[in-house]
Amino acid sequence: MEIKIVGGGLAGSEAAYQIARRGGEVILYEMRPSSCTPAHKTAYLSELVCSNSMKSKELTNAHGLLKEELRLLDSLVIRIAHETAIPGGKALVVDREKFAQRITGEIEDNANIRVVREEVEEVPSGTVIIATGPLTSSKLTEKIGALTGEENLYFFDAISPVIDAESVDMEKAFYASRYAEEKSDDYLNCPLTEEEYKLFYEELISAGRVDFKEFEKTSFFEGCLPIEVMAERGKQTLLYGPMKPVGLIDEHTGKRPFAVVQLRKENAEGTMFNLVGFQTKLKYQEQDRVLRFIPALKDAVFLRYGSVHRNTYIQSPAVLNTALQFNGNGNIFFAGQITGAEGYVESTAMGLLAGIAAFLYSGGKQFTPPPGDTCIGGLLRYITTETKHFQPMNVNFGLLQDYKKREKEAAVERSLSSIEAWKKQMYEEMNQ
Ligand SMILES: Cc1cc2nc3c(=O)[nH]c(=O)nc-3n(C[C@H](O)[C@H](O)[C@H](O)COP(=O)(O)OP(=O)(O)OC[C@H]3O[C@@H](n4cnc5c(N)ncnc54)[C@H](O)[C@@H]3O)c2cc1C
Repeated sequence: MEIKIVGGGLAGSEAAYQIARRGGEVILYEMRPSSCTPAHKTAYLSELVCSNSMKSKELTNAHGLLKEELRLLDSLVIRIAHETAIPGGKALVVDREKFAQRITGEIEDNANIRVVREEVEEVPSGTVIIATGPLTSSKLTEKIGALTGEENLYFFDAISPVIDAESVDMEKAFYASRYAEEKSDDYLNCPLTEEEYKLFYEELISAGRVDFKEFEKTSFFEGCLPIEVMAERGKQTLLYGPMKPVGLIDEHTGKRPFAVVQLRKENAEGTMFNLVGFQTKLKYQEQDRVLRFIPALKDAVFLRYGSVHRNTYIQSPAVLNTALQFNGNGNIFFAGQITGAEGYVESTAMGLLAGIAAFLYSGGKQFTPPPGDTCIGGLLRYITTETKHFQPMNVNFGLLQDYKKREKEAAVERSLSSIEAWKKQMYEEMNQ
Protein backbone atom coordinates (compact mmCIF):
# COMPACT_ATOMS: atom_id res chain seq x y z
CA MET A 1 0.00 0.00 0.00
CA GLU A 2 1.27 3.47 -0.91
CA ILE A 3 1.84 6.14 1.70
CA LYS A 4 1.13 9.67 0.53
CA ILE A 5 3.26 12.54 1.72
CA VAL A 6 2.21 16.15 1.20
CA GLY A 7 5.15 18.59 1.08
CA GLY A 8 8.62 17.91 -0.32
CA GLY A 9 10.55 20.02 2.18
CA LEU A 10 13.05 18.68 4.68
CA ALA A 11 10.49 16.66 6.65
CA GLY A 12 8.62 15.28 3.63
CA SER A 13 11.83 14.26 1.83
CA GLU A 14 13.20 12.57 4.96
CA ALA A 15 9.91 10.75 5.61
CA ALA A 16 9.76 9.55 1.98
CA TYR A 17 13.32 8.22 2.17
CA GLN A 18 12.70 6.41 5.47
CA ILE A 19 9.63 4.66 4.06
CA ALA A 20 11.30 3.81 0.76
CA ARG A 21 14.46 2.38 2.34
CA ARG A 22 12.25 0.00 4.33
CA GLY A 23 10.57 -1.19 1.11
CA GLY A 24 7.45 1.00 1.33
CA GLU A 25 5.92 2.80 -1.65
CA VAL A 26 5.51 6.58 -1.53
CA ILE A 27 3.74 9.28 -3.51
CA LEU A 28 5.31 12.61 -2.59
CA TYR A 29 3.31 15.71 -3.51
CA GLU A 30 5.16 19.00 -3.87
CA MET A 31 3.40 22.12 -5.18
CA ARG A 32 6.53 23.89 -6.41
CA PRO A 33 7.35 25.12 -9.01
CA SER A 34 3.80 25.82 -10.22
CA SER A 35 2.77 27.22 -6.83
CA CYS A 36 5.36 28.64 -4.51
CA THR A 37 5.50 29.71 -0.87
CA PRO A 38 6.60 33.31 -0.22
CA ALA A 39 10.00 32.06 1.00
CA HIS A 40 10.99 29.28 -1.44
CA LYS A 41 12.74 30.25 -4.67
CA THR A 42 13.47 26.99 -6.54
CA ALA A 43 11.82 23.74 -7.61
CA TYR A 44 14.22 21.65 -5.51
CA LEU A 45 12.96 19.39 -2.75
CA SER A 46 14.38 20.26 0.69
CA GLU A 47 15.23 23.82 -0.25
CA LEU A 48 16.72 25.77 2.64
CA VAL A 49 14.68 28.97 2.75
CA CYS A 50 17.10 31.11 4.69
CA SER A 51 20.45 30.35 6.35
CA ASN A 52 22.62 27.58 4.89
CA SER A 53 23.76 26.54 8.38
CA MET A 54 22.49 23.46 10.18
CA LYS A 55 24.01 24.85 13.37
CA SER A 56 26.60 23.30 15.66
CA LYS A 57 28.47 20.06 14.95
CA GLU A 58 29.60 19.65 18.55
CA LEU A 59 28.09 16.79 20.49
CA THR A 60 27.98 18.89 23.64
CA ASN A 61 25.61 21.22 21.83
CA ALA A 62 22.04 19.86 21.50
CA HIS A 63 21.95 20.80 17.78
CA GLY A 64 25.11 18.76 17.23
CA LEU A 65 23.83 15.84 19.26
CA LEU A 66 20.52 15.73 17.39
CA LYS A 67 22.41 15.62 14.08
CA GLU A 68 24.55 12.74 15.35
CA GLU A 69 21.43 10.83 16.46
CA LEU A 70 19.94 11.38 13.01
CA ARG A 71 23.15 10.25 11.34
CA LEU A 72 23.02 7.03 13.39
CA LEU A 73 19.42 6.58 12.25
CA ASP A 74 20.50 6.91 8.59
CA SER A 75 18.92 10.27 7.87
CA LEU A 76 19.05 11.25 4.21
CA VAL A 77 19.10 14.98 4.99
CA ILE A 78 22.00 14.70 7.42
CA ARG A 79 24.01 12.43 5.12
CA ILE A 80 23.64 14.83 2.21
CA ALA A 81 24.37 17.80 4.48
CA HIS A 82 27.72 16.20 5.40
CA GLU A 83 28.44 15.34 1.76
CA THR A 84 27.78 18.92 0.60
CA ALA A 85 29.35 20.68 3.59
CA ILE A 86 31.51 23.78 3.13
CA PRO A 87 33.82 25.24 5.78
CA GLY A 88 31.81 26.74 8.63
CA GLY A 89 33.89 26.38 11.78
CA LYS A 90 31.97 24.51 14.44
CA ALA A 91 28.75 24.60 12.43
CA LEU A 92 27.59 22.24 9.70
CA VAL A 93 27.23 24.66 6.80
CA VAL A 94 26.18 23.39 3.39
CA ASP A 95 26.40 24.49 -0.22
CA ARG A 96 22.69 25.28 -0.45
CA GLU A 97 22.34 24.58 -4.19
CA LYS A 98 24.21 21.26 -4.12
CA PHE A 99 22.43 20.18 -0.95
CA ALA A 100 18.91 20.61 -2.37
CA GLN A 101 19.97 19.32 -5.81
CA ARG A 102 21.42 16.11 -4.31
CA ILE A 103 18.36 15.42 -2.15
CA THR A 104 16.06 16.04 -5.12
CA GLY A 105 18.14 13.63 -7.20
CA GLU A 106 18.09 10.86 -4.57
CA ILE A 107 14.34 11.18 -4.06
CA GLU A 108 13.44 11.39 -7.75
CA ASP A 109 15.71 8.45 -8.62
CA ASN A 110 14.32 6.24 -5.87
CA ALA A 111 12.25 3.48 -7.45
CA ASN A 112 9.89 3.38 -4.45
CA ILE A 113 9.06 7.10 -4.58
CA ARG A 114 6.87 8.85 -7.14
CA VAL A 115 7.10 12.65 -7.02
CA VAL A 116 3.95 14.47 -8.10
CA ARG A 117 4.29 18.19 -8.67
CA GLU A 118 0.91 19.54 -7.68
CA GLU A 119 -0.71 21.55 -4.93
CA VAL A 120 -2.80 19.37 -2.64
CA GLU A 121 -6.01 21.13 -1.64
CA GLU A 122 -7.70 18.42 0.44
CA VAL A 123 -6.26 16.02 2.98
CA PRO A 124 -5.80 12.86 0.85
CA SER A 125 -7.42 9.57 1.80
CA GLY A 126 -5.41 6.52 2.89
CA THR A 127 -2.26 6.70 4.99
CA VAL A 128 -0.89 10.21 4.63
CA ILE A 129 1.82 12.37 6.17
CA ILE A 130 1.21 16.13 6.14
CA ALA A 131 4.57 17.88 5.97
CA THR A 132 3.68 21.20 4.39
CA GLY A 133 5.72 23.34 6.73
CA PRO A 134 5.45 26.84 8.18
CA LEU A 135 4.07 28.26 4.93
CA THR A 136 1.44 25.65 4.12
CA SER A 137 -0.74 26.76 1.19
CA SER A 138 -3.94 28.51 2.19
CA LYS A 139 -6.47 26.01 0.82
CA LEU A 140 -4.86 23.08 2.59
CA THR A 141 -4.46 25.15 5.77
CA GLU A 142 -8.23 25.64 5.79
CA LYS A 143 -8.75 21.89 5.52
CA ILE A 144 -6.24 21.18 8.28
CA GLY A 145 -8.10 23.67 10.49
CA ALA A 146 -11.38 21.89 9.81
CA LEU A 147 -9.70 18.61 10.78
CA THR A 148 -7.95 19.68 13.97
CA GLY A 149 -10.41 22.43 15.00
CA GLU A 150 -9.54 26.09 14.33
CA GLU A 151 -8.51 26.50 17.96
CA ASN A 152 -5.68 24.00 17.40
CA LEU A 153 -4.17 25.74 14.34
CA TYR A 154 -1.88 28.78 14.47
CA PHE A 155 -0.56 31.14 11.78
CA PHE A 156 2.02 33.03 13.77
CA ASP A 157 4.28 32.02 16.57
CA ALA A 158 4.98 34.41 19.41
CA ILE A 159 7.80 32.77 21.27
CA SER A 160 9.21 33.92 24.57
CA PRO A 161 12.84 33.13 25.38
CA VAL A 162 13.43 29.89 27.30
CA ILE A 163 16.18 29.59 29.91
CA ASP A 164 17.79 26.83 31.91
CA ALA A 165 16.09 26.72 35.33
CA GLU A 166 19.41 26.18 37.10
CA SER A 167 20.79 29.45 35.77
CA VAL A 168 18.32 31.74 37.59
CA ASP A 169 19.80 33.55 40.59
CA MET A 170 17.65 32.27 43.47
CA GLU A 171 19.12 34.88 45.83
CA LYS A 172 17.09 37.38 43.81
CA ALA A 173 14.14 35.40 42.39
CA PHE A 174 11.20 34.08 44.42
CA TYR A 175 8.36 31.64 43.83
CA ALA A 176 4.81 32.99 44.13
CA SER A 177 1.57 33.18 42.20
CA ARG A 178 -0.12 36.56 41.97
CA TYR A 179 -2.55 37.19 44.86
CA ALA A 180 -2.11 33.61 46.11
CA GLU A 181 -2.31 33.28 49.86
CA GLU A 182 -0.38 30.08 49.90
CA LYS A 183 3.11 29.60 48.52
CA SER A 184 3.09 27.96 45.10
CA ASP A 185 5.81 27.18 42.61
CA ASP A 186 3.73 27.95 39.51
CA TYR A 187 5.72 31.12 38.81
CA LEU A 188 9.28 32.11 39.55
CA ASN A 189 9.40 35.92 39.85
CA CYS A 190 12.36 38.11 38.95
CA PRO A 191 11.94 41.49 40.67
CA LEU A 192 13.35 44.86 39.57
CA THR A 193 13.71 48.09 41.53
CA GLU A 194 12.73 51.39 39.88
CA GLU A 195 16.35 52.07 38.95
CA GLU A 196 16.82 48.57 37.53
CA TYR A 197 13.60 48.88 35.53
CA LYS A 198 14.70 52.24 34.09
CA LEU A 199 17.98 50.78 32.94
CA PHE A 200 16.32 47.68 31.47
CA TYR A 201 13.68 49.78 29.69
CA GLU A 202 16.24 52.05 28.01
CA GLU A 203 18.22 49.05 26.76
CA LEU A 204 15.08 47.29 25.54
CA ILE A 205 13.72 50.09 23.39
CA SER A 206 17.06 50.86 21.78
CA ALA A 207 18.10 47.22 21.09
CA GLY A 208 18.58 45.90 17.53
CA ARG A 209 15.62 44.10 15.96
CA VAL A 210 15.05 41.61 13.17
CA ASP A 211 13.01 43.12 10.35
CA PHE A 212 9.80 41.45 9.29
CA LYS A 213 9.77 39.90 5.83
CA GLU A 214 7.28 41.42 3.40
CA PHE A 215 4.83 38.49 3.79
CA GLU A 216 5.05 38.74 7.58
CA LYS A 217 3.94 42.36 7.73
CA THR A 218 0.58 42.12 9.35
CA SER A 219 -1.05 43.43 12.47
CA PHE A 220 -0.31 41.53 15.66
CA PHE A 221 -2.93 40.33 18.05
CA GLU A 222 -2.86 42.62 21.11
CA GLY A 223 -2.23 39.48 23.17
CA CYS A 224 1.06 38.69 21.44
CA LEU A 225 2.77 42.02 20.76
CA PRO A 226 6.55 41.80 20.84
CA ILE A 227 7.76 43.10 24.20
CA GLU A 228 9.77 45.92 22.59
CA VAL A 229 6.73 47.09 20.59
CA MET A 230 4.71 47.17 23.80
CA ALA A 231 7.49 49.10 25.52
CA GLU A 232 7.48 51.74 22.76
CA ARG A 233 3.95 52.73 23.74
CA GLY A 234 5.27 54.31 26.92
CA LYS A 235 7.49 53.74 29.92
CA GLN A 236 4.56 52.60 32.05
CA THR A 237 3.03 50.15 29.56
CA LEU A 238 5.04 47.11 30.65
CA LEU A 239 4.26 47.88 34.29
CA TYR A 240 0.58 47.34 33.49
CA GLY A 241 1.34 44.39 31.21
CA PRO A 242 3.83 41.53 31.45
CA MET A 243 5.98 43.27 34.10
CA LYS A 244 3.21 44.23 36.47
CA PRO A 245 4.11 43.69 40.12
CA VAL A 246 0.59 43.65 41.61
CA GLY A 247 -0.29 40.78 43.90
CA LEU A 248 3.33 39.81 44.51
CA ILE A 249 5.52 40.29 47.61
CA ASP A 250 9.25 39.73 47.24
CA GLU A 251 10.18 37.20 49.94
CA HIS A 252 13.72 38.59 50.06
CA THR A 253 12.63 42.17 50.90
CA GLY A 254 9.08 41.65 52.24
CA LYS A 255 7.89 44.37 49.82
CA ARG A 256 6.08 44.61 46.50
CA PRO A 257 8.71 45.01 43.76
CA PHE A 258 8.59 47.95 41.33
CA ALA A 259 8.43 45.56 38.36
CA VAL A 260 8.49 41.78 37.92
CA VAL A 261 9.32 39.36 35.14
CA GLN A 262 7.51 36.08 35.68
CA LEU A 263 9.04 32.77 34.64
CA ARG A 264 6.80 29.80 33.98
CA LYS A 265 7.79 26.15 33.68
CA GLU A 266 8.31 25.11 30.08
CA ASN A 267 8.30 21.35 30.77
CA ALA A 268 6.83 19.06 33.40
CA GLU A 269 10.21 18.49 35.12
CA GLY A 270 10.68 22.25 35.60
CA THR A 271 14.19 22.23 34.10
CA MET A 272 13.28 25.04 31.68
CA PHE A 273 11.45 28.31 32.17
CA ASN A 274 9.95 30.74 29.69
CA LEU A 275 9.68 34.49 30.29
CA VAL A 276 5.94 35.08 30.38
CA GLY A 277 4.77 37.60 27.75
CA PHE A 278 8.28 38.26 26.47
CA GLN A 279 7.79 37.27 22.82
CA THR A 280 10.22 39.41 20.88
CA LYS A 281 11.75 40.31 17.52
CA LEU A 282 15.03 41.49 19.06
CA LYS A 283 18.14 40.01 17.46
CA TYR A 284 19.36 36.95 19.34
CA GLN A 285 22.55 38.59 20.61
CA GLU A 286 20.49 41.56 21.77
CA GLN A 287 18.12 39.29 23.72
CA ASP A 288 21.15 37.71 25.31
CA ARG A 289 22.48 41.13 26.30
CA VAL A 290 19.32 43.05 27.25
CA LEU A 291 17.59 40.36 29.30
CA ARG A 292 20.62 40.19 31.60
CA PHE A 293 19.58 43.62 32.86
CA ILE A 294 16.93 41.68 34.81
CA PRO A 295 19.03 41.05 37.93
CA ALA A 296 17.93 37.43 38.58
CA LEU A 297 18.80 36.61 34.94
CA LYS A 298 22.29 38.09 34.97
CA ASP A 299 23.85 34.65 34.37
CA ALA A 300 20.93 33.11 32.47
CA VAL A 301 21.67 30.26 30.08
CA PHE A 302 19.37 30.74 27.09
CA LEU A 303 18.04 27.46 25.71
CA ARG A 304 16.11 29.22 22.98
CA TYR A 305 15.62 32.82 22.02
CA GLY A 306 12.28 34.49 21.48
CA SER A 307 10.77 35.16 18.08
CA VAL A 308 7.64 36.23 16.29
CA HIS A 309 7.13 35.01 12.76
CA ARG A 310 4.73 33.62 10.25
CA ASN A 311 4.42 29.95 11.08
CA THR A 312 1.59 27.55 10.38
CA TYR A 313 1.55 24.94 13.12
CA ILE A 314 -0.88 22.78 15.01
CA GLN A 315 -1.37 22.40 18.74
CA SER A 316 0.33 18.99 18.61
CA PRO A 317 -0.09 18.09 22.30
CA ALA A 318 -3.87 18.31 21.83
CA VAL A 319 -4.16 16.52 18.49
CA LEU A 320 -1.24 14.10 18.02
CA ASN A 321 -0.16 10.95 19.80
CA THR A 322 3.47 9.95 20.34
CA ALA A 323 3.61 8.44 16.84
CA LEU A 324 2.82 11.91 15.36
CA GLN A 325 -0.54 10.41 14.41
CA PHE A 326 -3.71 12.52 14.42
CA ASN A 327 -5.93 11.38 17.27
CA GLY A 328 -9.10 11.94 15.23
CA ASN A 329 -8.03 9.66 12.37
CA GLY A 330 -5.17 7.15 12.66
CA ASN A 331 -4.45 7.31 8.90
CA ILE A 332 -3.16 10.88 9.19
CA PHE A 333 0.33 11.74 10.41
CA PHE A 334 1.98 15.15 10.70
CA ALA A 335 5.68 15.85 10.25
CA GLY A 336 8.12 18.75 10.28
CA GLN A 337 7.68 22.30 11.42
CA ILE A 338 3.88 22.11 11.28
CA THR A 339 4.07 19.89 14.41
CA GLY A 340 5.67 22.70 16.46
CA ALA A 341 9.25 21.48 16.07
CA GLU A 342 11.25 24.47 14.93
CA GLY A 343 14.24 24.60 12.58
CA TYR A 344 15.76 22.63 9.72
CA VAL A 345 17.17 19.72 11.70
CA GLU A 346 14.28 19.49 14.16
CA SER A 347 11.83 19.37 11.22
CA THR A 348 13.94 16.67 9.57
CA ALA A 349 13.86 14.68 12.82
CA MET A 350 10.07 14.82 12.95
CA GLY A 351 10.01 13.74 9.29
CA LEU A 352 12.19 10.74 10.06
CA LEU A 353 9.94 9.66 12.94
CA ALA A 354 6.69 10.21 11.02
CA GLY A 355 8.08 8.16 8.12
CA ILE A 356 8.97 5.23 10.36
CA ALA A 357 5.68 5.49 12.30
CA ALA A 358 3.52 5.67 9.17
CA PHE A 359 5.40 2.76 7.59
CA LEU A 360 4.90 0.58 10.67
CA TYR A 361 1.25 1.60 10.93
CA SER A 362 0.56 0.69 7.31
CA GLY A 363 2.00 -2.76 7.99
CA GLY A 364 -0.08 -3.19 11.17
CA LYS A 365 2.96 -2.81 13.43
CA GLN A 366 3.62 -0.84 16.54
CA PHE A 367 5.77 2.31 16.70
CA THR A 368 7.67 2.87 19.95
CA PRO A 369 8.82 6.47 20.48
CA PRO A 370 12.57 7.00 20.95
CA PRO A 371 13.64 7.28 24.60
CA GLY A 372 13.20 10.66 26.31
CA ASP A 373 16.90 10.88 27.15
CA THR A 374 17.70 11.43 23.46
CA CYS A 375 17.31 14.76 21.65
CA ILE A 376 14.91 13.31 19.11
CA GLY A 377 12.87 11.55 21.83
CA GLY A 378 12.90 14.64 24.06
CA LEU A 379 11.64 16.85 21.24
CA LEU A 380 8.91 14.35 20.31
CA ARG A 381 7.90 14.12 23.96
CA TYR A 382 7.74 17.92 24.23
CA ILE A 383 5.49 18.39 21.21
CA THR A 384 3.14 15.57 22.18
CA THR A 385 2.81 16.19 25.92
CA GLU A 386 -0.24 18.08 27.19
CA THR A 387 0.59 21.59 28.31
CA LYS A 388 -1.38 24.78 28.85
CA HIS A 389 0.97 27.02 26.88
CA PHE A 390 2.37 25.18 23.88
CA GLN A 391 4.89 27.09 21.80
CA PRO A 392 7.13 25.83 19.00
CA MET A 393 10.47 24.52 20.20
CA ASN A 394 13.93 23.93 18.87
CA VAL A 395 16.19 21.28 20.28
CA ASN A 396 18.00 21.95 23.56
CA PHE A 397 19.34 19.93 26.47
CA GLY A 398 16.45 21.00 28.70
CA LEU A 399 14.24 18.62 26.69
CA LEU A 400 16.20 15.54 27.72
CA GLN A 401 14.73 13.43 30.48
CA ASP A 402 16.77 13.51 33.72
CA TYR A 403 19.22 16.01 32.26
CA LYS A 404 21.54 17.82 34.65
CA LYS A 405 23.69 20.69 33.37
CA ARG A 406 26.70 19.52 35.34
CA GLU A 407 26.57 16.09 33.72
CA LYS A 408 26.38 17.06 30.07
CA GLU A 409 28.98 14.57 28.85
CA ALA A 410 27.18 11.69 30.55
CA ALA A 411 23.91 12.85 28.97
CA VAL A 412 25.54 12.79 25.52
CA GLU A 413 26.80 9.24 26.03
CA ARG A 414 23.42 8.11 27.34
CA SER A 415 21.62 9.61 24.38
CA LEU A 416 23.82 7.93 21.79
CA SER A 417 23.54 4.51 23.39
CA SER A 418 19.77 4.97 23.77
CA ILE A 419 19.50 5.76 20.06
CA GLU A 420 21.43 2.61 19.12
CA ALA A 421 19.18 0.51 21.37
CA TRP A 422 16.02 2.10 19.96
CA LYS A 423 17.21 1.57 16.39
CA LYS A 424 17.75 -2.11 17.12
CA GLN A 425 14.32 -2.40 18.70
CA MET A 426 12.69 -0.72 15.66
CA TYR A 427 14.45 -3.11 13.27
CA GLU A 428 13.23 -6.05 15.33
CA GLU A 429 9.69 -4.70 15.22
CA MET A 430 9.90 -4.37 11.44
CA ASN A 431 11.16 -7.89 10.95
CA GLN A 432 8.46 -9.52 13.04
C1 LIG B 1 11.27 32.88 6.17
C2 LIG B 1 11.75 31.70 6.94
C3 LIG B 1 13.08 31.64 7.32
C4 LIG B 1 13.57 30.53 8.05
N1 LIG B 1 14.88 30.47 8.40
C5 LIG B 1 15.37 29.39 9.04
C6 LIG B 1 16.75 29.25 9.33
O1 LIG B 1 17.55 30.11 9.01
N2 LIG B 1 17.18 28.13 10.00
C7 LIG B 1 16.31 27.16 10.37
O2 LIG B 1 16.76 26.17 10.96
N3 LIG B 1 15.00 27.24 10.08
C8 LIG B 1 14.50 28.33 9.43
N4 LIG B 1 13.17 28.42 9.13
C9 LIG B 1 12.31 27.34 9.50
C10 LIG B 1 12.45 26.29 8.37
O3 LIG B 1 11.84 26.75 7.21
C11 LIG B 1 11.82 25.05 8.74
O4 LIG B 1 12.34 24.62 9.97
C12 LIG B 1 11.98 23.90 7.76
O5 LIG B 1 12.13 24.28 6.44
C13 LIG B 1 10.73 23.13 7.95
O6 LIG B 1 10.78 21.98 7.20
P1 LIG B 1 9.41 21.38 6.70
O7 LIG B 1 9.75 20.24 5.84
O8 LIG B 1 8.50 21.17 7.84
O9 LIG B 1 8.77 22.56 5.82
P2 LIG B 1 9.34 23.16 4.44
O10 LIG B 1 10.78 22.97 4.31
O11 LIG B 1 8.78 24.54 4.35
O12 LIG B 1 8.64 22.24 3.35
C14 LIG B 1 7.24 22.25 3.14
C15 LIG B 1 7.00 21.97 1.68
O13 LIG B 1 5.60 21.80 1.47
C16 LIG B 1 5.25 22.42 0.25
N5 LIG B 1 3.79 22.68 0.30
C17 LIG B 1 3.14 23.57 1.10
N6 LIG B 1 1.81 23.45 0.92
C18 LIG B 1 1.62 22.47 -0.02
C19 LIG B 1 0.47 21.89 -0.61
N7 LIG B 1 -0.77 22.27 -0.31
N8 LIG B 1 0.64 20.90 -1.53
C20 LIG B 1 1.90 20.46 -1.88
N9 LIG B 1 3.02 21.00 -1.33
C21 LIG B 1 2.88 21.97 -0.40
C22 LIG B 1 6.15 23.63 0.17
O14 LIG B 1 6.32 24.10 -1.13
C23 LIG B 1 7.44 23.10 0.78
O15 LIG B 1 8.30 22.58 -0.20
C24 LIG B 1 12.66 29.50 8.41
C25 LIG B 1 11.32 29.58 8.03
C26 LIG B 1 10.88 30.66 7.29
C27 LIG B 1 9.43 30.70 6.89
